[in-house]
Amino acid sequence: MVKQTIQIFARVKPTVRKQQQGIYSIDEDEKLTPSLEIILPRDLADGFVNNKRESYRFKFQRIFDQDAKQETIFENIAKPVAESVLAGYNGTIFAYGQTGSGKTFTITGGAERYSDRGIIPRTLSYIFEQLQKDSSKIYTTHISYLEIYNECGYDLLDPRHEASSLEDLPKVTVLEDPDQNIHLKNLSLHQAATEEEALNLLFLGDTNRMIAETPMNQASTRSHCIFTIHLSSKEPGSATVRHAKLHLVDLAGSERVAKTGVGGQLLTEAKYINLSLHYLEQVIIALSEKHRSHIPYRNSMMTSVLRDSLGGNCMTTMIATLSLEKRNIDESISTCRFAQRVALIKNEAVLNEEIDPKLMIIRLQKEIQELKDELAIVTGEQRTEALTEAELLQLEKLITSFLEDQDPESKLEVGTDMRKIHHCFHYLKKLLNDKKIHRQSTAPSENKDQNCQEPLKEEEYKKLRDILQQRDNEINILVNMLKKEKKKAQDALHLSSVDRSQLSHGQSSPFPPGNPDGPKTLPFSASTQALDSSTSPYRSSLLHRKTGMREEMSLGRQEAFEIFKRDHADSVTIEDNKQILKQRFAEAKALGESINEARSKIGRLKEEITQRHVQQVALGISENIPVPSMPDQLEEKLRSQLEEEKRRYKTMFARLKALKVEIEHLQLLMDKAKVKLQKEFEAWWAKEATSLQVNSPAVTPSNHVKPFPQMSEAQHERSQPLSNKRFPVSTPVHCGSKNGLQRAQLQQRSVDCWKQLVTWIPVGRLCFFKDGALDAASGAGARLTVLSLLWVLEPWAARQRRVLGVERAL
Ligand code: ADP
Ligand code: MG
Repeated sequence: MVKQTIQIFARVKPTVRKQQQGIYSIDEDEKLTPSLEIILPRDLADGFVNNKRESYRFKFQRIFDQDAKQETIFENIAKPVAESVLAGYNGTIFAYGQTGSGKTFTITGGAERYSDRGIIPRTLSYIFEQLQKDSSKIYTTHISYLEIYNECGYDLLDPRHEASSLEDLPKVTVLEDPDQNIHLKNLSLHQAATEEEALNLLFLGDTNRMIAETPMNQASTRSHCIFTIHLSSKEPGSATVRHAKLHLVDLAGSERVAKTGVGGQLLTEAKYINLSLHYLEQVIIALSEKHRSHIPYRNSMMTSVLRDSLGGNCMTTMIATLSLEKRNIDESISTCRFAQRVALIKNEAVLNEEIDPKLMIIRLQKEIQELKDELAIVTGEQRTEALTEAELLQLEKLITSFLEDQDPESKLEVGTDMRKIHHCFHYLKKLLNDKKIHRQSTAPSENKDQNCQEPLKEEEYKKLRDILQQRDNEINILVNMLKKEKKKAQDALHLSSVDRSQLSHGQSSPFPPGNPDGPKTLPFSASTQALDSSTSPYRSSLLHRKTGMREEMSLGRQEAFEIFKRDHADSVTIEDNKQILKQRFAEAKALGESINEARSKIGRLKEEITQRHVQQVALGISENIPVPSMPDQLEEKLRSQLEEEKRRYKTMFARLKALKVEIEHLQLLMDKAKVKLQKEFEAWWAKEATSLQVNSPAVTPSNHVKPFPQMSEAQHERSQPLSNKRFPVSTPVHCGSKNGLQRAQLQQRSVDCWKQLVTWIPVGRLCFFKDGALDAASGAGARLTVLSLLWVLEPWAARQRRVLGVERAL
């Protein structure tokens, strides 16, 4: 058992403005516990925080200043926890702080650079590396990813996530067993055999979280996310299994409602977050006060889920993330205060070992079989499960003659077969019972002799009955254990099979480079396509499913998307990452070739050494000289060359392995960015379509379409010369612009105009059709009339194609 208080660390986020510096200082005396001093600026000191104080000092295990790298954070905070998880203890790392202070950056990582990857990917990498090194145990790793939003739990890895909205998904609920263990219903566990599989799950969960997010529901800052690595280990042949869980928790922003100044839905959310963080605080206060018998874990879902991590069987670490700017001073102080209370909590981590009943039963069954085999050898007869009819008949005859035999010394010899012995007992019992019934119903007075034997027999039967009862109980317990285990296994199997089938489905349907579906539905550049489909078919098909890109995009829309993508702020990052990825691929390729060369060189050297050796021996034999005890110089040289080559091989191999992880991570980052881009494009497109419908047909000649979101001011300015081309709603069609967005907008507009036409036709007022509507078709009234009739007759899809065709013809 390891007793430990919750470790607290602080991390200060880099400030954008330099003048913000000077509001805090870090005191890191080697001998003392490091402390963080927050200095109140003069104008704030008399205000809301505390009237006369000028500075606050907080102690932490370690304080990481603005320049701390992700690597340092992992090495100092997460690695020790990961090590204890590998040793079989539960672990939790949670990040607490106001929105924007760097919780997600610390726990998951930044979305741009590989070096920005956070605690989760680094911990996965470390754990899988250690598992590979340790061949003395069999390890199994499972991943779960839970999101708690407005006091409801959602499974971020639920395969149904993409098809349904958050609200339609089955909620994850907390169940408590009689031993007060917490079980989460509807939270799926996914086996991850490699780091890559685990990373894919992280990416899947993060993307699901992003997809579920809408402008009204910025869930990422208002929800808590718990990424859990479940690790079980056992030594080969042993029935003892160790289970350890590592929770990596990204809490919702800790800011207070008053500050956020929100209303309606957001206020409800804020109340919920604050409520659940408030309950977290209550639990922490209760735990830090000695002699408190009741800890209010059950008040909120989060405290129930993290029950073990807080004041239980877990090694827990908290990272207080701080954005130390003037306007955030009060929030930063409250984060530090919270951390100080957390530091008082003591946890007791124990090894979670249990006997695997399934293994135990298998082992016992094996033992029974071996004993049966041994018995068969000794007795010379092969036993079957039940006695045959003939054997039973013979036994009954034996019993009858035994009972009829007046000789008190007579014996009932049935051999050593337990089945026969049991049958005799049963048979005797039956006879006795029959006789008893008969006696009760016929003669009240009995033979004296029998009467005095009765208590004796009664006693014996009672004893036998007790033993039987005991055995029955034992069997029941075992059967129950088995049932439970079987159910657990089935649940796990079911979940993993659901997931596997999804995964395997994904794997079996990648978009090969030549597949017409690929380029048409995924309008990213060809080089990325090729990369995606060749390196990770699972991921790329996942991306398709995530973005709903199966749905065919019209040509105009595709072009619009291309432009949207080009002008989006994230495109720089995507482009940068693409370049880095290309470099890494080239490096990996070159390394692969060098590795192959090194491998064949090693082979050649080994062969040369063997040959040289054989030559020396042969020479010795033919010239009758004993093999020289001094090593042969040439052989020595070859050997040192071999060693050198092996070292080179190992170094290159390690580098290649690291490159593989980096490539995988970069691809995931890019995929995520692409999903985000696609999502924003869809939102923008839908918004534009609606606003066009509202404004149509009387469209003002001015350029009313809003610029693409996410565009920085600078970018917007840069793209000004393009803007006329980009938003050409009022541009007459006949000017024949080839711009995709123009065409797309026009297409949308024409559709809207024609919809109006249709409503007008029945009342025969086509000629009173407004100018604005005709404007879109730019005087092509006659053709429009014909088309409007077609419109009525044709189905929607054909109509759209025709619209495009006409627009082109115009
Ligand atoms: P939170 O999850 O607490 O709301 P985020 O992790 O999303 O905050 O951080 C907000 C922004 O600040 C993000 O753009 C993130 O990349 C950036 N950021 C946070 N911490 C750091 C850091 N230590 N170094 C660089 N950028 C950071
Ligand atoms: Mg966040």
